[in-house]
Amino acid sequence: MKVFLILFSLITISVAAISQKPKSVSTKPKLVVGIVIDQMRWDYLYRFQPLFKPSGGFKRMINNGFNCNNTMVPYAPTVTACGHTCVYTGSVPNIHGIVGNNWWDKSLNRVAYCTEDKTVEGIGNTKGDAGKMSPENMLVTTIGDELRLATNFKSKVIGIAVKDRGAILPAGHSANAAYWYDKATGSFISSSYYIKELPTWLNDFNNRKLVDSFYRLGWNIQLPKETYLKYCTDDAKPYEYKVFGDSAAGFPYNNLSKYINKDYNKVISTPYGNTLTAEAAKTILINEKMGKGDETDFLAISFSSPDYIGHSFGPNSWELLDCYIKLDDELGKLFDALDKQVGAGNYVSFLTADHAVAHIPGFMKEHKLPGGTFDDSAEKKEMNKRLKQQFVIDTAILSFENYQLTLNKKSIQSLGIDEEKVVNWIVNYLKQNEAILNVFELNKLMAIPMNNTIKERLANGYFENRSGDIQVVLKSGYIDGMRTGTTHGLWNPYDAHIPLLWYGWGIKKGSTHKENYMTDIAATLAALLKIQMPSGCVGKVIEDVMK
Ligand SMILES: [Zn+2]
Repeated sequence: MKVFLILFSLITISVAAISQKPKSVSTKPKLVVGIVIDQMRWDYLYRFQPLFKPSGGFKRMINNGFNCNNTMVPYAPTVTACGHTCVYTGSVPNIHGIVGNNWWDKSLNRVAYCTEDKTVEGIGNTKGDAGKMSPENMLVTTIGDELRLATNFKSKVIGIAVKDRGAILPAGHSANAAYWYDKATGSFISSSYYIKELPTWLNDFNNRKLVDSFYRLGWNIQLPKETYLKYCTDDAKPYEYKVFGDSAAGFPYNNLSKYINKDYNKVISTPYGNTLTAEAAKTILINEKMGKGDETDFLAISFSSPDYIGHSFGPNSWELLDCYIKLDDELGKLFDALDKQVGAGNYVSFLTADHAVAHIPGFMKEHKLPGGTFDDSAEKKEMNKRLKQQFVIDTAILSFENYQLTLNKKSIQSLGIDEEKVVNWIVNYLKQNEAILNVFELNKLMAIPMNNTIKERLANGYFENRSGDIQVVLKSGYIDGMRTGTTHGLWNPYDAHIPLLWYGWGIKKGSTHKENYMTDIAATLAALLKIQMPSGCVGKVIEDVMK
């Protein structure tokens, strides 16, 4: 009897122990959802937090996931192509080769676009170059590539964004597909690098002509006017760029239906660009059965419209605030769809940005804060004019891209001119410009007296064949631009401090203010997925976020 009782209780204990195990403990997530917000400053998470809903995306991630508050971009230039590449490769331009959206390519002797590929054809739009795209210029693997390698290519990896580079670079070399928005037709397209024809479900999606219905709706603010007055400068300031024409200054932007069948580019400068992206992402999720297979799938989503809106209207505008209020809703609905399709807790998601942004210089001046503009193309023209007078060289400066000048070394040499003299002339000329903090020859980067953070970030951003010869570092608050709007691109915290939120499978609840880097994202994903880090990864695993 005693033996029986002991046996009975042992059985009950072990049955209880088994049944107490959490229900769906899988050894891997069913899906990874990477979310990049193009041009999101870290401080938006806090400035706008009272306006984010518990059912929206940002609070859901912050309250139930992990917040890495001090995540920095470890290189310059802080621009879209470099950012998306870094997030998904854990690498820097010095290794992965994507040194800008565009760069002067020294072997091609012309400006190259980051994802251009003249060997492939557009799928969905065969006219023009919109579809002639691939990740071939990226020299390393992405986390999606490593996932494909780890599962003998059974994992499905797909990228989606309005911007081609926001879809192509994250998805990687071996991706099943990448889709991006074609502003000529208002449809999502791809290239023959990935597929032979658009899937039926994408043709059906494109045929819904969502952009036309968005244009008919117009763009108005979501919350009461008082909210915008509380959080922003007055609507319609002279230093904002008027995307919808000079007569359309400020809310409401009612007259957008005039763009139907005429201009499918305008929608990307409205929050509807995010709606379009989220709708396309959910369509991919369902039709490609993402997260329904035996292996972990990967969906890389990039929201491009915050960048277009931010460039035109700036971080303190009504337009920008309205964009984030609506994006919060879109993200909430996206998580609802993911919960339904894959199950809450069965997918892991991260949210970050490819770069942040400076305030509009006009706004800074209005508030007695340091800032101003520097017009690189006008300066290039002026310098080439003066260099011709001085040294009799035509086009001594070939390009001024990514805050770097490329010299026409062939011409300089063939004319027998001392290159050093040309360099010194340029450096001395630019040093007189009030916008410039420092200007120097890039091969002397490590030898000049300058703060180590700036040096390190510029070195990380340097790739010989695709970088310039002379570097320009602007003063704080100064941007490469003109009278209206703003931009990003240098090492400063307003450009380089990005949000990083983690949520879902394998993620602890919490937050940290420890310094992390954009390069750590791919390393941490590799650790979570127990797969190899991407081939150029220099990041470190953020152990704090892992359960
Ligand atoms: Zn931008």
